Amino acid sequence: MFLKRIELQGFKSFANKTVLQFDQDITGIVGPNGCGKSNINDAIRWVLGEQSVKSLRSGGNMSDIIFSGSEQKKKVNMAKVSLVFDNSRRIFDTPFDEVEIARQIQRSNNEATYTINRTPCRLKDIQELIMDTGLGRDSLSIISQGNISAFADAKPEERRSLFEEAAGVAKYKKRKQASLSKLEKTKENLDRLQDIIDELD
Ligand code: ATP
Repeated sequence: MFLKRIELQGFKSFANKTVLQFDQDITGIVGPNGCGKSNINDAIRWVLGEQSVKSLRSGGNMSDIIFSGSEQKKKVNMAKVSLVFDNSRRIFDTPFDEVEIARQIQRSNNEATYTINRTPCRLKDIQELIMDTGLGRDSLSIISQGNISAFADAKPEERRSLFEEAAGVAKYKKRKQASLSKLEKTKENLDRLQDIIDELD
């Protein structure tokens, strides 16, 4: 699986439709300060479900990622980013050779919509599709600016969590946590049931 193409429209500094084509070798994106290199990284994380406006280096609302205008160009009211992956090795559990994941947002309602291969879906469907592929939100497939120095400066426990993420242990920890909180909820329900039984007796 590799990222073949990114299409951006109205996302941050990418007011007009912009298509970036990648090949299987290494691609470097270079340009002067502030030209939008990190915005591409933000765009990838946004499509993959990033919900934190702060980590997208944007304003207070998710709709602040929409192009807000410049001296030459008026603001736009919609942002859309699509990631096209080669899936010939079936890393994504779908029968398609190509998988396109897209996210769109309108300024009017600040709400995002998602599609997989142009079919509307929930964020959860995207999270499930990318789970275990190494592309997840906390995965190390995207290393942002500052990550390396943060790693060097991290406390041992923080560094350990990065190793766990790389070793694939983190997802099991998360699942364990989810199961434990389900168990806790079930226990509370049983307690409530017992209270009702006691009252009826
Ligand atoms: P550096 O090399 O300094 O890290 P960079 O190439 O990574 O810079 P980015 O941080 O990707 O640059 O882009 C910053 C630019 O994006 C700024 O000019 C900023 O005004 C513009 N920008 C960010 N959000 C928006 C938005 N919503 N609308 C319009 N422009 C935006």
